[in-house]
Amino acid sequence: MGCCKCEEHGWLDPQDVVWKDPADGKGYCVFHAPVKDAEITAKAFNSLVMKRIFENYCSDDGSVCQLTGIVVPGVFKFPEYEHKIGVRVNLSNSVFAGAVSISKTATSGLDFRNVIFKDSFSASHARLISTSFKECKFCKTVKCISSEFIGVDFSSAQFIGFADFSMSTFGRVNDTNLSENERTNFSNASFQNRAKYSETNFIEYVDFSNIRTRKQKISINAVSEESIKKILFKSNDVEFISIKICSFKMFLSGRPSLMLYTFSRTVK
Ligand SMILES: [Zn+2]
Repeated sequence: MGCCKCEEHGWLDPQDVVWKDPADGKGYCVFHAPVKDAEITAKAFNSLVMKRIFENYCSDDGSVCQLTGIVVPGVFKFPEYEHKIGVRVNLSNSVFAGAVSISKTATSGLDFRNVIFKDSFSASHARLISTSFKECKFCKTVKCISSEFIGVDFSSAQFIGFADFSMSTFGRVNDTNLSENERTNFSNASFQNRAKYSETNFIEYVDFSNIRTRKQKISINAVSEESIKKILFKSNDVEFISIKICSFKMFLSGRPSLMLYTFSRTVK
């Protein structure tokens, strides 16, 4: 009997069992064991993951690294720019027990669908392209500062802690011909704490339709008039969004109300 999770997630190279659940006798490999053997430290575990990303592309055509359903025991930091991640990595349905950070790196095709981030998540000076956080649960703070998001999917994600996307850019700088799937999507996301988009640059359309908030409105502050035009939401989302101090020029131009102006940009 191999690892039950490798089997469940269809790994093409099922790993050796390192731990058996005394309750039901099911076996788990080092990547999937919910309880890590004392022999493996968080650092050693992370090395195994990175080794798999860089050396072992195990999908049918070798283009997707399969890391579905893994249980990461501690802090996880994606390598910095010099190790630019060039392969698509499927980390869907995984659990990260410690803080996760992606900084000063460019990645394309990371798949975090339905991942649970039990601790904080941060991306600073990172470039994330075609990355999915669909249905993710961010249990603590999300801090994505001065990063670039191109075709990133946060739809139906749950932000339980404070979410900060200040000084980040949504869209590709100097390229306005993005296809629809390169837009960033926050539709149906739920924000249970404060969310801040301050001095954020919306180059491409970003979909905020059907969002939900619990405590405070999402604040979009100090963004340009051009950026405001790229924010999509439905009229019933207005109660969840606050747009302030956005464009000095807009007040001078005599527009009667910033909110009325943004109402006209809502999606059907
Ligand atoms: Zn396994």
